[in-house]
Amino acid sequence: MNTALNSQEGLHVGLAWNNSFAHLGTDFYAPLAPQPLPAPYWVGRSTTVAQTLGLDPAALGSQELLEALSGNRPISGTQTLASVYSGHQFGVWAGQLGDGRAILLGETSGQEVQLKGAGLTPFSRMGDGRAVLRSSIREFLCSEAMHGLGIPTSRALCVTGSDAPVRREEMETAAVVTRVAPSFIRFGHFEHFCHHDQHGQLKILADYVIDRFYPQCRTDNSLVGGNPYAALLQAVTERTATMVALWQSVGFCHGVMNTDNMSILGLTIDYGPFQFLDVYDPGHICNHSDTQGRYAFYKQPNVAYWNLLCLGQALMPLIEKQELAMAALEHFKTAFPQALAQRMAMKLGFAQSHDKHQRLTEDVLRLLVEGRVDYTIFWRRLSLWARERRTDDSSVRDLFMDASGIDPWLLHYSELLAQQPQGLAADLMLKTNPKFVLRNHLGELAIQAAKTKDFTLVHQLLQVLERPFDEHPAFESFAAFPPDWAGGIAISCSS
Ligand code: AMP
Ligand code: MG
Repeated sequence: MNTALNSQEGLHVGLAWNNSFAHLGTDFYAPLAPQPLPAPYWVGRSTTVAQTLGLDPAALGSQELLEALSGNRPISGTQTLASVYSGHQFGVWAGQLGDGRAILLGETSGQEVQLKGAGLTPFSRMGDGRAVLRSSIREFLCSEAMHGLGIPTSRALCVTGSDAPVRREEMETAAVVTRVAPSFIRFGHFEHFCHHDQHGQLKILADYVIDRFYPQCRTDNSLVGGNPYAALLQAVTERTATMVALWQSVGFCHGVMNTDNMSILGLTIDYGPFQFLDVYDPGHICNHSDTQGRYAFYKQPNVAYWNLLCLGQALMPLIEKQELAMAALEHFKTAFPQALAQRMAMKLGFAQSHDKHQRLTEDVLRLLVEGRVDYTIFWRRLSLWARERRTDDSSVRDLFMDASGIDPWLLHYSELLAQQPQGLAADLMLKTNPKFVLRNHLGELAIQAAKTKDFTLVHQLLQVLERPFDEHPAFESFAAFPPDWAGGIAISCSS
């Protein structure tokens, strides 16, 4: 393990670094530098994330930045560190975890920048501090795909790879994802300090999060009794509810919703064995290691609530009154269904959700389950069908082996649609129902090619997934049904 490198000798990348997390003090982290990665090469790069950071996209081609983002060269102005957190994994208190392989460089343009897979830290436990090429490509593409879908998420600037071997179930090679978010603080950070009765540190952390991200929690007296910590819990509850509603609406299964993987900002973070549903199967378990199905697709909202309860528990020393915490958490029970109903109404082409749309949604989801229909293709075809409104258009009913359920549904739906100005509904649908999602088999194809050092697919998928509602006629195959072998891809926690 290296000690922190002197920032004076580092590479100047033209960014101003602020590093507010480092100012919290060493109760919250261990200062240390990334571990060098031999002979790195670029695997994928996002110009839009570079622009978000204020980084000249041309720098993403430079050898210096390649070395720096692979951990081989310090960046001037950064204060590298690994933070400590704890958490509940699969419903069980797991004790201390922490950044076992992610190293925070610092904060620039209001965004923290982390190198994931950058080597051992004091929190690596049994791990090797590394990430493999396979999971790094998945995290990179999915971060940008989620952003393209309008779902709150950490972003990814780039992936760099190396031929350095890394042992998982089999031998693989190492990679580093440079990921970006306003903050990587998790529910587990709060659980850590509560568990150790470090209430002073707990307050410092909560005040830091409130001051930076939720200042209204101090000023808005209408929020839970004027208690800023209960107000924080309420705000995180609402953001988490919205995030999970968006997941459910696009068929995204996170796979490892442990409390250490839950962002205090309601961002999707820590991409591991995630999956976008192919056929609509609410019971789908995307994580091969999740033998009990704790994180099955349909359970995600309940798990989010359970995780929020853990956060509420961790904040109790600051909130003090249990009824305030419960009142804050109670918001989940309205925020989640409202956000989901609103999103599903939009998928159907209605700008506002009404009870009649909810019944329409429930009915069609049941038909999708019964018919084992592809989720993304169904909604996209329905959008095109709604745009044309041609009676001889059978593209939607063709998705069902037995059309006896979908035919009357389509009839009823078209009556409701007819009450809307033509074009308006379809426009909304085509902006809500993506043509492209990062299906498992697409990620897999990009990974297999990348293993032979062909990064074309990584690049093409990034281009398409950044704008998933556009048609991209040159990439029709990315919108096709998954091949038969897609069902055989097993993705576990091991990454
Ligand atoms: P995850 O399920 O990937 O979010 O990881 C859970 C915990 O294990 C976190 O504390 C990670 O930092 C740590 N971890 C996962 N993989 C590794 C690894 N290869 N080396 C060190 N720590 C790891
Ligand atoms: Mg994690």
